[in-house]
Amino acid sequence: MAFEGLADRLQGTMQKIRGKGKVNEADVKEMMRDVRLALLEADVNFKVVKDFVKRVNERAVGQEVLKSLTPGQQVIKVVKEELTELMGGEQSKIAASSRPPTVIMMVGLQGAGKTTTTGKLANLLRKKYNRKPVLVAADIYRPAAIKQLETLGNQLSMPVFSLGDQVSPVEIARQAIEKAKEEHNDYVLIDTAGRLHVDENLMGELKNIKELTKPDEIFLVVDAMTGQDAVNVAQSFNEQLGLTGVVLTKLDGDTRGGAALSIRAVTDTPIKFVGMGEKLDAIEAFHPERMASRILGMGDVLTLIEKAQANVDEEKAKELEKKMRTATFTFDDFLDQLGQVRNMGPLDDIIKMLPGANKIKGIDNMSIDEKQIGHVEAIIRSMNKHEKENPEIINAGRRKRIAKGSGTSIQEVNRLLKQFDEMKKMMKQVTNMQKGKKKGGMKF
Ligand code: GDP
Repeated sequence: MAFEGLADRLQGTMQKIRGKGKVNEADVKEMMRDVRLALLEADVNFKVVKDFVKRVNERAVGQEVLKSLTPGQQVIKVVKEELTELMGGEQSKIAASSRPPTVIMMVGLQGAGKTTTTGKLANLLRKKYNRKPVLVAADIYRPAAIKQLETLGNQLSMPVFSLGDQVSPVEIARQAIEKAKEEHNDYVLIDTAGRLHVDENLMGELKNIKELTKPDEIFLVVDAMTGQDAVNVAQSFNEQLGLTGVVLTKLDGDTRGGAALSIRAVTDTPIKFVGMGEKLDAIEAFHPERMASRILGMGDVLTLIEKAQANVDEEKAKELEKKMRTATFTFDDFLDQLGQVRNMGPLDDIIKMLPGANKIKGIDNMSIDEKQIGHVEAIIRSMNKHEKENPEIINAGRRKRIAKGSGTSIQEVNRLLKQFDEMKKMMKQVTNMQKGKKKGGMKF
């Protein structure tokens, strides 16, 4: 996971100060020495660290903080706010032109993930914002680039505009926008050429495309794993082109986080999206506050809820809620639930978003035993319809058969039946309490 080292260090430091009844200037100073080192080790730009420490210091030794009832927590609050500010404060949204199509130029060095990100972004625009994007193949130099974009387009069932590699990128962009207007595509995503290094020819060409298309956004795609290099690349592109946003890729890797924490401060360009994997849905809008919260071990419940909303079928959820209320929840419903949770991604990633999860001993090395969940699924599948709906009929003989059929043990079957029974009892209790509450008979 990205930020792991930084998160560990900062959380350790915060832990020391959290419970203190009294905090004095020397405590803050000591804490900030640790914070400074942690940030430098995470490869955050030197000047950024210096300014950050100065700001936190100024705010944290203020009278209202140190004299408050919970000075330790107040100091942590200041650190979190400043960390959020460092990454841009508010979430920075994607432009939507009042005169469509909205034109987005995707720029970046080779290998940063530009072409993949172009596909991911188009996918997100369609899925989350109901847009109708078109991809434009304007990298005519890298031999496989056009083909790569066409393959992505195919995978996504999304149109790709291409004129081969003999027409100039500026002309390709021009015609693509014309066509988009005719076809009512409301977003045009131009995949421009990359180079191994920033060079003048490349910048010249990008400037020409910019001049002609007057893009609403110019997104630089950079690889988070390259740390300070990513910051330098962002700086040069910004000076020459004027970026409107950065997409930081490969945040699923074990980057130390320096790029994410420095880019905004050094280039004054917001990070708008982050890439979290190779798959076409592995892109997230960047929320500075949520990221700060994750780094400080306070969890990221909002992202978790969004993931749930994106993956859970609303109709099914309503039906389920009713079943829970009436305590008619069966093993089939349970199976369904498991499937939906699994759609949200690897379980250990999900659990790490919960507040305080970092305090669970050994969570970093823990991989949730997906095998065990597989067992639960197998057990349920080995029940017949009657058993799934009336688990109380599952006697010793049936248990034996189910264990055998699912390749598990009788103990595992017993455990699951017991858990399910307890769950149902709990649902009944909650339902009864709510009924009581409605009548005004019960107070919480
Ligand atoms: P381009 O040269 O900048 O267009 O780069 P590509 O889009 O071809 O991507 C280069 C490599 O990085 C490919 O193998 C991608 O699958 C991979 N990649 C892109 N984004 C991510 C990401 O967010 N996470 C991971 N793990 N890999 C990524």
